[in-house]
Amino acid sequence: MAEKIKIASYWAADCGGCDVAILDTHEKFLDIIQAADIVFMPIAMDTKEKDVEAFPDGYIDVCFFHGAIRNSENEHMAKLLRRKSKVMVAFGSCAMMGGIPGLANFKDRDGVLRRVYWESPSTDNPGHILPQTENQMREGVITLPAFYDEVKTLADVVPVEYLMPGCPPASHQIWNVFQAIASGKLPPPGSVIGASNKSVCEECPRIKENKTIKHFYRVHEIIPDPERCLLEQGIPCMGPATRGGCGAACPVANQPCRGCYGPLDGVIDHGAKYVSALASVIDANNPEEAAKILDQIPDPAGMLYWFGLPASLLRKVRK
Ligand code: SF4
Repeated sequence: MAEKIKIASYWAADCGGCDVAILDTHEKFLDIIQAADIVFMPIAMDTKEKDVEAFPDGYIDVCFFHGAIRNSENEHMAKLLRRKSKVMVAFGSCAMMGGIPGLANFKDRDGVLRRVYWESPSTDNPGHILPQTENQMREGVITLPAFYDEVKTLADVVPVEYLMPGCPPASHQIWNVFQAIASGKLPPPGSVIGASNKSVCEECPRIKENKTIKHFYRVHEIIPDPERCLLEQGIPCMGPATRGGCGAACPVANQPCRGCYGPLDGVIDHGAKYVSALASVIDANNPEEAAKILDQIPDPAGMLYWFGLPASLLRKVRK
């Protein structure tokens, strides 16, 4: 019998939905474990860091690393798993582009800690205590990972062979990628896998007629026509600028695309690409009117970089 491939899945700074998406392959998960040994997957198995340290270098065939790099523990595990793995996949939006945790890059480390531990409405912290990396307890010194000044992508700290987008990656795409791994048919390193190179709009079944926008709405402000393009109805939908492969899952479910699959090949900045798409559909007679229409979008920077601020040009501008 052919030797099984060895795979690992690790959860850094993210919500854990990527692991759930792997389990959401449902009965296909049984086929996965027929062909592969899962040697490290903290959400599903009682394996520890010391077990990974004991593996020979390059022991893991493919590591699905999900989550951004927010603290020193995330970086330590990324470097350990990189050393132990032949192939590293930045799995999901957070590992690939920083994801939702990356929105914290609109503030620096001190700004985040102040907000969370001092200023949030539900916090009672009169001593203004902040987490420390070392604390002396009666039993000895206990340590916490160091919280970084910014969220980084996986590729910011280790070399990565493949990028697999999605928040989380669609389960049918996880199955496709697994089949490519099992049959040795992965594309050349550096490729985006588990996605298409067509936009979400091209996968979206909604009727597209004439995109001219006079007014933007938030999703709770109107009941959109279930058949027509959401953007044409004034709901900011990032489908025109976002890589497909998800089957337009959000627009099909009556929600706008938020951009979790990231930009298409050759696009340097996802948010800037969407601004350019919006610019072509705003129905304004002069710059003042255009500014008024655009002002109806709440938190535009948050919307444009919902999943990819750490991988964007804006991050570099801030720095
Ligand atoms: Fe594109 Fe969104 Fe319109 Fe669908 S609803 S066609 S994804 S802009």
